[in-house]
Amino acid sequence: MLNKNIETFIGCGAEFDEAGIVIYGAPFDSTTSYRPGARFGSSAIRHESYGIETYSPYQDRDLEDISVFDSGDVEMCFGDAEKALAALEERAKAIADAGKLPLMLGGEHLVTLAPVRVLSERFPDMHIIHFDAHADLREDYLGAPLSHACVIRRCHDILGDGRIHQFGIRSGERSEFRFGTEHTDFHPLSLAGLSETVSELSERNVPVYLTVDLDVLDPSEFPGTGTPEAGGVSFTELRDALEFVCRNCRVVGADLVELAPTLDSSGISTALACKLTREVLLALL
Ligand code: MN
Ligand code: MN
Repeated sequence: MLNKNIETFIGCGAEFDEAGIVIYGAPFDSTTSYRPGARFGSSAIRHESYGIETYSPYQDRDLEDISVFDSGDVEMCFGDAEKALAALEERAKAIADAGKLPLMLGGEHLVTLAPVRVLSERFPDMHIIHFDAHADLREDYLGAPLSHACVIRRCHDILGDGRIHQFGIRSGERSEFRFGTEHTDFHPLSLAGLSETVSELSERNVPVYLTVDLDVLDPSEFPGTGTPEAGGVSFTELRDALEFVCRNCRVVGADLVELAPTLDSSGISTALACKLTREVLLALL
């Protein structure tokens, strides 16, 4: 018998009903402040995932042993961020309503606001763990409140003080760093302090949304991103951190954003993003 050519992330061919995690793509980069291209991130991750193994020697787990459904990319409106977010919210809500964990592949970072809106309604005590080179705490960017440079500030509008935990931040305006110090659990320059944050959140069994802006990585390992920022963490550090968060916290949703595959013609950045996606999927189940 012949099968239809349907491309999913490798090892994620489960049916919707049996799946615990549902992948969805957010091919959007219309508020990107510097170099665009993140709209191609999710499809590149899916396509290039066939270059990696389903088995993780780090975790001794295999994607063949778990059930993940890949719901494909959401069709998104370019030029109207609020309309684009509405389409993503609809997908995130359909996944969460079915009792499944939504895992989003970006796209630029603004897309995170959609699942955060949906999941914070369902889990009013939700916290966010945020890995990024950038604080993303601007009130607006050139007058636009809906920009990838403001996404964590928009999340703060919803969640308020003390419920956003930021790691690896090494770029932003002075006012963003002040805002972070006063209003979020702010860990600039490295991932130091993560184990304390995770043990506190896991003890309280707090629902956690995990958002990973891949530019938290050093550009020497991950150049394929719109706003590369020297001085980042290594793949190994980030992989360990994500496994630690996923294994110990009550993660109710997650995303990996800001891969811009065409900005790295070597393909190494996309291969890294594929591997990290596999590691997150395996650590979540
Ligand atoms: Mn970001
Ligand atoms: Mn960033």
